Amino acid sequence: MGISFWNYISGDMAIDLGTANTLIYLKGQDIVIDEPSIVARNSRTGQIIAVGNDAKEMLGKTHQDIEVIRPLKDGVIANFEVTEGMLQGFIKKVKISRIARPRMVIGVPTGITEVEKRAVKDSAERANAREVFLIGEPVAAAIGIGLEIDKPVGNMIVDIGGGTTEIAVIALDGIVTHESVRIGGDEMDEAIVQYFKREHNLLIGERTAENIKCEIGSATAVEEVTMAVKGRNLIAGIPKTIEVTSSEIREALRDTVDAIVQSVTESLEKTPPELSSDILDRGIILTGGGALLKGLDQRLRDETQLPVNVAENPLLTVAYGTGKVLENIDKYMSVLT
Ligand code: ADP
Ligand code: MG
Repeated sequence: MGISFWNYISGDMAIDLGTANTLIYLKGQDIVIDEPSIVARNSRTGQIIAVGNDAKEMLGKTHQDIEVIRPLKDGVIANFEVTEGMLQGFIKKVKISRIARPRMVIGVPTGITEVEKRAVKDSAERANAREVFLIGEPVAAAIGIGLEIDKPVGNMIVDIGGGTTEIAVIALDGIVTHESVRIGGDEMDEAIVQYFKREHNLLIGERTAENIKCEIGSATAVEEVTMAVKGRNLIAGIPKTIEVTSSEIREALRDTVDAIVQSVTESLEKTPPELSSDILDRGIILTGGGALLKGLDQRLRDETQLPVNVAENPLLTVAYGTGKVLENIDKYMSVLT
C-alpha cells in the first residue's frame, strides 16, 4: 500500500509508547509500526544498534558488547536516555520525508511526572517533531474503543499492559480518578518462571513463560488443557520436557491476578458516587494485552458484580485512540497536554 503524497510530506503520527509494545499510527493511513519496546545497544559506547523486532532478534544471540534492554519495563521512564533512543529509532522506521516536521500525539501513562512529560516532548522534538501533544493512555484507550467521552457519564477503563495496569474513570473529557499499578503481563511471566523453578526444578526463559501464559494461562476455571514445556532441569542440568495443565498455570498466576483484581475493586471504592451509578450501568472495559488472559473478565465480573467487557482489539486500542485524536486534533484539544 502506497502512502499519499501529503502524508509523506507531513508525516504526522500518533504513538503508543507502551512498556511492552510501541505502535505508530501514520496520519491518513493506519498503524504502520507494531513492534516490541526493545533496544539493542553497545554496552561499552551506549550506541543504539537496533530497536523493535530487529533488537528482539538479537536476544540470546548477542556477544559480550551488545545488550538488549526494555527501557520502559518498569512502567515509568527509568532509563530515559535509552527510551529517547528507542523513540527516535521507531520514528526513523516510519518512512516519511526526511524534511518533514511532523505533529505527534503520544500516549503516556497517567502516572508520569511533569519532568517525564517534558522529557518525552523534548525527545520527540529532537526527532524532528514540529509540535508534540501528550494524551493519557486511558483516555486514548477510551477514544480508541469508541466511547463517547464528552458525555457526562463515567466509564471505567482497565488497561493491563506489560509493566503496568492503568485503571481510570473517565468522564467529560477527563480522568476523574486514576491509578497506575506496577503489575501487568511481565509479572505474570515472572510468576510462571518462578513456579517452574519451585514446583518442577525446571528453568524456563521469560519468552517461554509468556507463551505458556498466552496459550493456557487463565484467571478462572476454563476448559482444562495441557501443554508440553521445554526447559533445563536445575538438578541434572539437562534439557527436559514436562506436561503442564492449565490449572497449574492458573495457580502460578493467582497472586498477580488477585493483585490486579484488588486494584480494580479499590478504584471502584474511590469512585465518586454519582459516577459509580454510571459504572454500575455501563460496567468496566478491559484493554491492553493482559485483557486477553482467559477468564479475567469473568473473574472481575464475579468479584465486582458489574458488567465487564473486553475491548475488541485490546493490543491496538491506545494506538487507534491516539490516531483518532491526531486526525481530529481540534476536537480533542481539551484532552491533550
Ligand atoms: P504495553 O501497553 O505495556 O506495551 P500491551 O498492551 O502491548 O502492553 O500488552 C502486552 C502484554 O500483554 C504482554 O505482557 C503480553 O504477554 C500480554 N499478552 C498478549 N497477549 C496475551 C494473551 N493472549 N494472554 C495473556 N496475555 C497476553
Ligand atoms: Mg499500553
